[in-house]
Amino acid sequence: MARIGIIGDGPAGLSAALFLARGDQDTIVFGTDETAMHWAHLHNYLGIEDLGGTAFQRTARGQVEAAGATLRAHEVTEVRVAADGASFTIVTADTTDEVDYVVLAGGKAVQSLAEALGAERDGGHVVVDTEQRTAVDRVYAAGRVVRPERSQAVISAGAGAIAALDILSRESGKDVHDWDSPPKED
Ligand SMILES: Cc1cc2nc3c(=O)[nH]c(=O)nc-3n(C[C@H](O)[C@H](O)[C@H](O)COP(=O)(O)OP(=O)(O)OC[C@H]3O[C@@H](n4cnc5c(N)ncnc54)[C@H](O)[C@@H]3O)c2cc1C
Repeated sequence: MARIGIIGDGPAGLSAALFLARGDQDTIVFGTDETAMHWAHLHNYLGIEDLGGTAFQRTARGQVEAAGATLRAHEVTEVRVAADGASFTIVTADTTDEVDYVVLAGGKAVQSLAEALGAERDGGHVVVDTEQRTAVDRVYAAGRVVRPERSQAVISAGAGAIAALDILSRESGKDVHDWDSPPKED
């Protein structure tokens, strides 16, 4: 089991956390529930006809906790890379956690953490590949931190899921997906 620290508790971070926790990884989400979703009202999230952003967040946070992730109501102030590059230390005012992977999902506010980690940046955003990997091994970025000017909730949630599936696939050594089917009727 890997330990993953997700910095940011909007749609990108919570979506990554849901997949990782369902994949039995030790998952911590850092954030103080100050996402822009509290100003949003969703009519453009496929499958949701009409839902306030605060209600969306409430459901998402409950879903993530029920799946086994830990929600930590702290702001991350620093992320340090171990000398061998194989682990990271996530620091808040009250906590210090060693993790195997970092997912940067804190919107524009985590640009400075990305820069300190050595992730490549282009203008105002962090550069990632198709699996949301940054240039730093085991550091991912998803959502508004990657595309600050073209941000939508459904895109952030999708990007968080992509990062999570890549981590799960790396950990299991083969491609992973998380597919459920409806219960069989008697
Ligand atoms: C007024 C308004 C209306 C909108 N309406 C819509 C809409 O109708 N439909 C739609 O799809 N989108 C809408 N959006 C955009 C939507 O809110 C964003 O696309 C979405 O919130 C991006 O999700 P994210 O997870 O990438 O980042 P965010 O939602 O920005 O989440 C990042 C989270 O990380 C936290 N964080 C930052 N730094 C740290 C740190 N150092 N430590 C811990 N936590 C940290 C932040 O506090 C925040 O909670 C709207 C936005 C606004 C402002």
